[in-house]
Amino acid sequence: MTQSYVIIGDGISGSSAAETLREKDPDAEITVVTDEGEPLYNRILIKEFAKGKLPEAPISIHDESWYEDRDITLSLNTHVTHIDPEAHVVHTHEGDDLGYDKLLIATGGTPTQLPVENSDAEGIHHFWTFQDARKIEEDASNAEKGVAVGAGLLGIDLAAICGAQDVAGKYLMRGNRWWRYALSLDGAEIIHDGLREKGVEPVFDSGVDYFETDDSGRVTAAIDPNGERFETDFVGIAIGLNFNTEYLRGSGIEQDEGVVVDEYMQTNVDDIYAAGDLTRFYDTILGEYAQNGSWGSAKEQGKVAGVNMAADAESEAFRWVSSYSITHFDFPFLSFGHPTIGDEYVERKYSDTEWRRIAIKDGKVVGGVLIGDLAPQTRLKKLMREETSVEGQTDVLLEEEIDLDQLAVSQ
Ligand SMILES: Cc1cc2nc3c(=O)[nH]c(=O)nc-3n(C[C@H](O)[C@H](O)[C@H](O)COP(=O)(O)OP(=O)(O)OC[C@H]3O[C@@H](n4cnc5c(N)ncnc54)[C@H](O)[C@@H]3O)c2cc1C
Repeated sequence: MTQSYVIIGDGISGSSAAETLREKDPDAEITVVTDEGEPLYNRILIKEFAKGKLPEAPISIHDESWYEDRDITLSLNTHVTHIDPEAHVVHTHEGDDLGYDKLLIATGGTPTQLPVENSDAEGIHHFWTFQDARKIEEDASNAEKGVAVGAGLLGIDLAAICGAQDVAGKYLMRGNRWWRYALSLDGAEIIHDGLREKGVEPVFDSGVDYFETDDSGRVTAAIDPNGERFETDFVGIAIGLNFNTEYLRGSGIEQDEGVVVDEYMQTNVDDIYAAGDLTRFYDTILGEYAQNGSWGSAKEQGKVAGVNMAADAESEAFRWVSSYSITHFDFPFLSFGHPTIGDEYVERKYSDTEWRRIAIKDGKVVGGVLIGDLAPQTRLKKLMREETSVEGQTDVLLEEEIDLDQLAVSQ
């Protein structure tokens, strides 16, 4: 019998599931629904577009013919408003009903709005879509002064956009350093110096109390909790992500700060799977539920969901060590796994641009951050993937070249 699959979301997780489903089930009916106006593009690269460094074309991954060639129905500009798991039906804002045998939820998130006065003023941007990047590029290229808010992996993209567009940037952050959950001051200082070299000044123990605007409603300044006033023509905010799950209300699908799935990407509701940023998935490496917001992980989850949806059984489990790199500076940066969930951390600074920190939990590597020299990533990820015990051996992890044999001998 011909199966019909509906995928909500055409980001990398949804698109990778569609591709897998077509490979595994050549006769199936496959529909991909997205509320964006364009098919899959490379979300990682939109910051390079906003910097003014890349034209539009290389950012697109699929054009509409990609779907036609695979006999996949693509519904652009279509917002799913709710789903009915009993009836196996998806409802859209246009009043259409899409029946499914198997459904994939792959709707990612929307940036959290900064809950302060005037945060919706002209010139203030939150960053997630290509459309956002186009507006940011336009504003930043006309700005002399800029403000970036949010000391995490997306906030630093906004700060780097200021630098690349020759905008004198102030990067406002809480606490005394960038990404304080994953980096000590030693590591963060390398990033701070990198920012300054790009013309962006980190401002610590700061944030935004409110924004000032001119008569036309355009932002003119950010006022921080200390009363400091930062004049600006442009603001970029990245303080977190709210998962797009409103349409799941009343569906019975379990959520716990994300859609809960097992290692097969199956939710608690029959025939409904989920993949990508919005999942809280069972991580077979950690042996517990975890979350991850990265491109490679979302792509793999989409593939695993597609395999299991087509197999109609638990066929392939998700097992993945993620990585997330930053390429804004003269030195490389990479975080892998879950760098903030350790019960123990070891770290070392090797030079002004080289630093390493490894997160360890229950005697095993669970993540880390590498700055300057990324060569150890392969061995560290292998240790994590293979759940190797490093108990009492953590010094080995900080050697310039990690000797896996030395760890193996002492097992
Ligand atoms: C600026 C930026 C830089 C990044 N840089 C990196 C990086 O360097 N490395 C890295 O690993 N990761 C990076 N990421 C994160 C990475 O892009 C995400 O982890 C990944 O794209 C998540 O994919 P996804 O398929 O889960 O969700 P998304 O890509 O968010 O796709 C979800 C799709 O569902 C649509 N949708 C939502 N609700 C509905 C609805 N109700 N009806 C219909 N459609 C809906 C959305 O519009 C969206 O198109 C970056 C993200 C951004 C924004």
